[in-house]
Amino acid sequence: MAHIPSRLREIFCLVTVDGDLRVGDRSQQKASIEAMCEVHNDLGIQGKTTWFINEIDFHWMVEHPESLLGLVDSGECIGVHDHLDTHFADTYAHVFELMHASRSHLAGFFLINKREVPLLSHRNGCAIQNAVYYKVAIDLGYTWVSDVRPELSWSARMIKENGQWICLNEDDPRSIFNDNRCVPLGIRPWYHNSQNWMDTSSRQGSLLQVPITTMPGVITERVTAAVENSNDQAFIVIDTHPYDLQDLHSGDVSKENLVTYQQSLVWIKDEFDAQFICVDQLPEKLLI
Ligand SMILES: [Zn+2]
Repeated sequence: MAHIPSRLREIFCLVTVDGDLRVGDRSQQKASIEAMCEVHNDLGIQGKTTWFINEIDFHWMVEHPESLLGLVDSGECIGVHDHLDTHFADTYAHVFELMHASRSHLAGFFLINKREVPLLSHRNGCAIQNAVYYKVAIDLGYTWVSDVRPELSWSARMIKENGQWICLNEDDPRSIFNDNRCVPLGIRPWYHNSQNWMDTSSRQGSLLQVPITTMPGVITERVTAAVENSNDQAFIVIDTHPYDLQDLHSGDVSKENLVTYQQSLVWIKDEFDAQFICVDQLPEKLLI
């Protein structure tokens, strides 16, 4: 059993799904989305998860319109996941062009389909953070972001080469280095502007940063440490993907991955008696 400090009044769990559909064909991708929804449904957390849709590279509106509307109709919070790294977007103009396109295309799709979806949450590809991305996020009207990964540093960039999606690491000079080692696990979400996203003591700003506790899937040591280090409220943020449920070679949903995912959510529910919430419920829960 994890040690739950007596000062902790509430423990929240935010399941966030990055909508990169890089594995398998259309029907296998659809199956993985459905399998993930089924796990959430079985656990009673349907309508309490957040999906960051990657429209730039994976064209949900064309490839998976029913799945996208299904997520909205089951009450999930819908955000946007832009891989700006994939497109080597560095300048304000280029980043704006890409982020504006994905958000306005999705907004148009929801409007045509008569769904009210505010699109206020954003996550960058490879959880990359920089002032240009955050400036554009603010200018487009996003209000919460989720990229910082406490106590970690990493190098990454996702690219498509010869029809294959690959994630570059520190061995490749094109990868982008991020350093969040000075951010402690268990830190509460904080408000910031485009320049000061690492200032975890900041209580003002246009963006609420919701740090990622664990990725991919549930890493029990990190979740436990985050809860033990939290003050009066703990926020466990899981970053997962439909492809985490797929067999990377065949593309089919893997029974083993499915059971692992299911059990990891049950563990969080039982071990911490956590309340599952969407990102858009955070401002009302967060004690300032
Ligand atoms: Zn991604």
